[in-house]
Amino acid sequence: MTGQLNLVVLGKQGAGKGTQSELLCSRYGLAHISTGDILRAAIQAGSPLGLEVKSVLAAGELVSDDLVNKLVEDRFQDPDTAKGAVLDGFPRNTGQAQALERLLGEGGVRLCIYLDLANELVIQRLSSRRVCQECGTVYKDSDPSAISGTCEKCGGDVVQRSDDTPEAIATRLETFERETFPLLSFYESRDLLVKVNGDQPVAKVSDDIDGLLQGRGLV
Ligand code: AMP
Repeated sequence: MTGQLNLVVLGKQGAGKGTQSELLCSRYGLAHISTGDILRAAIQAGSPLGLEVKSVLAAGELVSDDLVNKLVEDRFQDPDTAKGAVLDGFPRNTGQAQALERLLGEGGVRLCIYLDLANELVIQRLSSRRVCQECGTVYKDSDPSAISGTCEKCGGDVVQRSDDTPEAIATRLETFERETFPLLSFYESRDLLVKVNGDQPVAKVSDDIDGLLQGRGLV
């Protein structure tokens, strides 16, 4: 497994994990594994999994470790993970990080990229975030696609995520501090942690990440 480039992207919601993960995947031919996207697709499809997790997501709470660990394990069976994957929104706590280490083996995660963003900016970004339900493109509430409610890329419905409400945002920030923040020490102790300022234009964040990957000889 160590020949694969598996990267973990960590950050509060709205820090740019999805956008930067997509860029990394297209640049390096990696699979994008977003547990949030997988869960939202299940809810949208009305599958048994979707029915099970719908209220948990809407409240901004975390679904069980067993459930997401299994989703990720299954996803690594897909052929597009051959060169490696960018993990976006997983792991979310130490138990999940340990499960990932068991799955990929020690050294299986090559780098953990923490996109740093202050809480005030998270709240600002999430309150104005709109998302295409079909293709996942993220818009601001002032973008034409958000105003018309129709995605300019695929024609899908552009909506506010059910967990981008003030109450759910507050819960998710608390959950981040309590559950996910300790992961920084987890990866730092393995010399795998790098931090990037998330309060910069998308292209600059992406350049910073590339510089760090190159600096470590990973690309
Ligand atoms: P995200 O799109 O990563 O912000 O995830 C949206 C929601 O999906 C979260 O607020 C959780 O309810 C759930 N979720 C996503 N990933 C995980 C995970 N690794 N562990 C537990 N719950 C998750």
